[in-house]
Amino acid sequence: MLPGYHASWCPAKKVRVRKAAAVPYTIAEPCVDVLDKACIEECPVDCIYEGGRMLYIHPDECVDCGACEPVCPVEAIFYEDDVPDQWNDYVSANVDFFVELGSPGGAAKLGKVDYDPPFIKALPPMGEH
Ligand code: SF4
Ligand code: SF4
Repeated sequence: MLPGYHASWCPAKKVRVRKAAAVPYTIAEPCVDVLDKACIEECPVDCIYEGGRMLYIHPDECVDCGACEPVCPVEAIFYEDDVPDQWNDYVSANVDFFVELGSPGGAAKLGKVDYDPPFIKALPPMGEH
């Protein structure tokens, strides 16, 4: 099962279907090329992973505590209901990032992953430096 999805029984089709599960917290565009990692220090379960150009919150490992959100200096972290419309693609990006990785169970031991979802990889240089 992909991270960020869960199986549920569909009584109409009598099959198991895969549904997008809640993605509690999402990191959006202001993080791209900033990556100052203040959020990592706050996360009690080490579920904020470093990609090539930004950080990503694991949708299954996040325990929804909210500790990361206020410390981000560029306000890149949003609760799922609060993600601005123009950054909705980042909700799925935080899921896509983990399709290959699965659930590593901790970002520190994994280290930086040289991957970003294609639309993020294609963005022009951004951020404050
Ligand atoms: S604190 Fe904000 S800008 Fe820094 S890595 Fe975390 S989400 Fe990105
Ligand atoms: S909400 Fe809590 S558990 Fe989830 S990424 Fe932020 S600090 Fe980590």
